[in-house]
Amino acid sequence: MRDRIRLALVLPDLLGTYGDRGNVIVLAQRLKWRNIDSETVTVLSSADSVPESCDLYLIGGGEDVAQVAAVRFLRRGRGLRSAVDRGVPVLGVCGGLQVLGTSFVTGDGKRHEGLGFVDADTEPGEGRAIGEVTTQSTLMGVGMLTGFENHLGRTAVGGDSRPLGRVVRGIGNGHDSAEGAVRGHVVCTYMHGPVLARNPRLADLLLEWAIGEPLEPLPDPPELRALRAERSRPHVRNRK
Ligand code: GLN
Repeated sequence: MRDRIRLALVLPDLLGTYGDRGNVIVLAQRLKWRNIDSETVTVLSSADSVPESCDLYLIGGGEDVAQVAAVRFLRRGRGLRSAVDRGVPVLGVCGGLQVLGTSFVTGDGKRHEGLGFVDADTEPGEGRAIGEVTTQSTLMGVGMLTGFENHLGRTAVGGDSRPLGRVVRGIGNGHDSAEGAVRGHVVCTYMHGPVLARNPRLADLLLEWAIGEPLEPLPDPPELRALRAERSRPHVRNRK
């Protein structure tokens, strides 16, 4: 393991309108609790390109126009692509999911090519999907995922990519009860929250991929334990 893990917060000035930068704070703190040093590398749109040498990349959500600018920026240099090819983990949230996907259609009806790291095509839906979303994750050991969604796009996942989860509550991708998309170590989701604060097991899986070895488990936060206890209680109907 490197003596210091480099976490890249990619384009928070374009794709950072929903507090997704919280994900990098969560990762740094979970490393710190294990006495592992980290450094956050913030890549703004004024930079030349994305550096190749980071151990984990995070891309948040945003508006259509910002997504188009983000794709243009991320095509410069081979930083992100070479990291993905080496199996370095990448998390894309909402607008980030669409940018990392194959293509997305913006509100003006124009189709834009994404980076194609996951096989995911997005088109506008009938209305915005807004609210709580809960899924059963397809990733080993991650279990239930929860987040807050707020998006117009509906995403079809295919080819060699698979959904991140099966929707239990909420809309998710809006196709096939799927939520998010995964290919290799590229994980995409519509969940804000920030998603890694609400889902520490997903945070740790990404860190394990970044570090290349298993991590000591940490106790789940009390709110997550309360949520699990609530779920395991028998469902009472017509409670007044
Ligand atoms: N602009 C995209 C949509 O509405 C993504 C929104 C977001 O990142 N929350 O589908």
